Amino acid sequence: METGARFCHRCETEIPAARVKALPQTQLCVKCSEETGGELRITASQRNYAKGKSLKKNYGDVDVRFERKPLPIKVVRSTHDE
Ligand SMILES: [Zn+2]
Repeated sequence: METGARFCHRCETEIPAARVKALPQTQLCVKCSEETGGELRITASQRNYAKGKSLKKNYGDVDVRFERKPLPIKVVRSTHDE
């Protein structure tokens, strides 16, 4: 398990420990994730258990896939911002 602080890929501020715990794969802070529309694309599809040529749809489990979107470009924040 990874320990220690993790920093945002985009703005380099520290990602809160609670966020890292909830989303271990995260590379963005909350603000950057909101500004870029999230870092993961989640798709769900139903698995079909019907026999080969059957037109019947015997849906079973739902497959959920998480795809990482390309990481956003880093932002340079001025030290004079207030
Ligand atoms: Zn950030």
